[in-house]
Amino acid sequence: MKTLPEYFKQAKQEKWALGHFNFSTADQLRAIVEVAAEMKSPVMVATSEGEDAFLGHEQTVALVKSWQAAGYPIFLNADHHKTWESVKGAMDAGYDTVLIDASKLPYEENLILTTKVVQYAKNKDHTMMVEGELGYLMGESSVQKRVDIKPEDYTKPEEAKDFVRKTGVERLAIAFGNAHGIITEQEEHLDLELLKKIVKAVPNTYLVLHGGSGLPPEEVRQAIALGITNVHINTELRLAYQEALRKKLMDDPDQTTPYKFLGPSFEAAKNLVRQKLDLFGAVGRI
Ligand SMILES: [Zn+2]
Repeated sequence: MKTLPEYFKQAKQEKWALGHFNFSTADQLRAIVEVAAEMKSPVMVATSEGEDAFLGHEQTVALVKSWQAAGYPIFLNADHHKTWESVKGAMDAGYDTVLIDASKLPYEENLILTTKVVQYAKNKDHTMMVEGELGYLMGESSVQKRVDIKPEDYTKPEEAKDFVRKTGVERLAIAFGNAHGIITEQEEHLDLELLKKIVKAVPNTYLVLHGGSGLPPEEVRQAIALGITNVHINTELRLAYQEALRKKLMDDPDQTTPYKFLGPSFEAAKNLVRQKLDLFGAVGRI
């Protein structure tokens, strides 16, 4: 099986993006993995600090490892882990890759913490990729009316160059008009001109688009053509799962068997992942 760095290299050369989906239940993970296998797409699955706490640290790793052992090319990411303790905990527990998100800290402190994580990861396993974050990504993984997306929070190309050189991160989460979650009363647009400048400033770094939920599909496609190699989806998957569950419980209120009332949610999650892998050009890449 190829390693995650090998898939990133392939994605960059062939101009497609690896899908990255968060989960917090075993059936959501199964939905992602089964669709990825059906579409012959390598895929990243992830838990944030909250999702990881709900499912259990070791249990999350064990679930993913059981799919990997069966031959599925899936990779587990610790998404937006914000402290040394939580990111180290994930690396020690067996996560394949981590995102140390110190973007809220002052720049110098972000550099110090991210560098420490990169050094720890490389000593542990040379295939363990570390993602850093630069520029402040607004919003949260939910449905929001409005989010204050300000150009002064966007990633600055020169700072990206300095950050990558000093920390050694292989992936970089950037802010260029994207925000976490789905925004209902405002249009979200990507600053593709800024993306071009960032690609030029850090040509050997894999750039990650967070907050893929709710963005116009055509802009996501253009961003991938310009050099984005990884797109994060969380809220749209949560929403598809929740809407199907709510409908099922309303339509069939006497149903008490989880694998029956969760059936439509499972299928809704699968459909969403199918659409996204297709949009990311990730089909048939195994
Ligand atoms: Zn994110």
